[in-house]
Amino acid sequence: MTLSNLPSHPFREPALEQYGTDGETAARWLYSINSEEPFEDTDGIIDLGAGNGILGIGALLLGAPNAIFIEIDEEVCKSLQDAIASLNLGEKCRILNGDVRLINHDEIRRDIVLMNPPWGRQTPRADRPFLDTAVRCANESIHLLHGRGARHIESWAESSGWFAKRWMEVDLPMPPIYSHHTKKRSTTEAAMWWIKRSAN
Ligand code: SAH
Repeated sequence: MTLSNLPSHPFREPALEQYGTDGETAARWLYSINSEEPFEDTDGIIDLGAGNGILGIGALLLGAPNAIFIEIDEEVCKSLQDAIASLNLGEKCRILNGDVRLINHDEIRRDIVLMNPPWGRQTPRADRPFLDTAVRCANESIHLLHGRGARHIESWAESSGWFAKRWMEVDLPMPPIYSHHTKKRSTTEAAMWWIKRSAN
């Protein structure tokens, strides 16, 4: 309920593919992650393409010691700041208003990266900078929400020396502005991948 009630993503910029994760999906996904890989045992998380911060905030509520939020859209960063303030989580959070491609990954590293990046439907391969940044910034694992039809995740992970397992599926509610030509709410098929460093 807390996640569902966060100040919502402004969804202003279709080119940035700002398809947010809804509260119920985020809660179910984060609980599942937490039961396998407790957030409180990590050194913190990075939320790449943070939007209103729903993923990072959820991880904090489940015990992550701190979160770094990276978001390119300045307006969106304001609602992220509001969301963090509304829950008194400011001391555990760092917001970086910038492009994932420009992150200094020597400085920004945490055990877990969480992300629902642009899926590349508006701009082909828009997810690639997120994938490439995530492998540089994550010590242990990357949790990715992407379109269920994505076929490149496993091969991309393998070529980067990681291992990707698709382990959950969800019908993600789409905000009305993306339900092209109709005001009705609709859903899109999504899935979650758990990406870990390969053992060898
Ligand atoms: N994590 C949130 C938002 C997902 S939408 C959630 O799950 O609800 C993807 C977000 O990535 C958008 O807020 C968009 O503005 C941001 N984004 C898109 N391209 C980016 C880039 N190159 N660098 C940083 N953020 C970016």
